[in-house]
Amino acid sequence: MDALDRSTIWPYEDGAPGRFYYSRYDSPTIADAEAALGALEGGEALLFPSGAGATTALVLHLLQPGDTIALAEGCYFGTGGTFKTLAKWGIRHVEFDQTGPPPDGVQLVWLEAPSNPFLTMPDLEAAAAHPAPVVVDATVATPVYLKPLERGADYVLHSATKYLAGHDDALLGAVAGRDLAALKQFRTSTGISPAPDTAWLLARGLRTLEVRVRRQTETATLLAERLRAHPAVEIVRYPGFSGLLSFDVADNETALRVETSTRLIVNATSLGGVTSVMENRHRWEGDRVPPGLLRLSVGLEDAEALWADLAQALASDT
Ligand code: PLP
Repeated sequence: MDALDRSTIWPYEDGAPGRFYYSRYDSPTIADAEAALGALEGGEALLFPSGAGATTALVLHLLQPGDTIALAEGCYFGTGGTFKTLAKWGIRHVEFDQTGPPPDGVQLVWLEAPSNPFLTMPDLEAAAAHPAPVVVDATVATPVYLKPLERGADYVLHSATKYLAGHDDALLGAVAGRDLAALKQFRTSTGISPAPDTAWLLARGLRTLEVRVRRQTETATLLAERLRAHPAVEIVRYPGFSGLLSFDVADNETALRVETSTRLIVNATSLGGVTSVMENRHRWEGDRVPPGLLRLSVGLEDAEALWADLAQALASDT
C-alpha cells in the first residue's frame, strides 16, 4: 500500500498544475482508495466525509427545487432525516415499498440493499425500468454480494464507515457510478471533500473486505437459524448474506434487558465492523420499528461464543 499523504498542496510541474496540486480537488491517497473501490463496483468511485455527506452531495448535485425522491420505506432512518432537512430547499420525498416498482412522477429513486433494519431487498429490475435515475445504498450488501451498476442502477452509495472500512474507526461515505466527473466537480466546488487519513483506512479495509464479509455471513447465517428456533424470539430478518440481521423479542422492556445482558456483543450503534454490536432500534426510530426489535451486526468473533452470549442474554429474560 502507498504511504498516507496528508499534503494539501503539491508542487506544480514545469510551472503548471499536475494531477495533484490542491487536496480539495484531488489527492493521491484519496485517489488510490477511490480506484480500489471503483474496481470493486465496476465503475468509478468518489469519497465523501460520511455516508450522509455522500447522500447530501448526490441529491444536491442531481436534483433541483420542486423535485421528488422516491425513498424505500424501512431503509436507514437517517436517510429520510437527511431528505427532510433538504425539504426547505424544495426537495421532497415520498416513501414506497421497494420490493415493487417505484411510483410515477419522481425525479430520483432511492433504494437500499438490503434495507437497514428491515433487511428487504429492492426490485432492481423494476427500478431500472423507471425513467428517473436510480441510487442503490448498498452499504449492507457491499460489492461482494451486489454490484448495482451491473443491475441497471445509476449510482451506488455506501456508508463506507461500515463494512468497507470495517473497523469502526473511520467515518466516510462513497458514491460509485459510470461517469462521476460532474459529481467530482460539484464536490470540489462545494468542498464536501474527504480526509486522506480515513481514505487510507478505507483502502486498507478493502483489502480484507471479502474475507470479512464472507466470514460474517457464515456466522450470521448460523445465528439467524438458531434465533429462529429460540422460544423468546418472534421473528428473524436475515436476507442470507452479509453480517446484519434483526430480530424481535416480546416488547421494548425485554429488548432493553437483552441488549444490556450480552458480554461479548457490545451494546452500541452502527454496523459492519469486526466487533459484534447489538441495539434496540426503537430508541432512535420510535414507532417506525417494532418496540422489541434488536439489530445485530455480526463481527468476526467465534460463532459459538456469539451464540452462547446471545443465548444467555435471551435466557436472562425467561
Ligand atoms: N446508509 C446506511 C444504510 C447506513 O446504515 C448509514 C449509517 O448508519 C448511512 C447510510 C449513513 O452513513 P454515515 O453514518 O457514514 O454518515
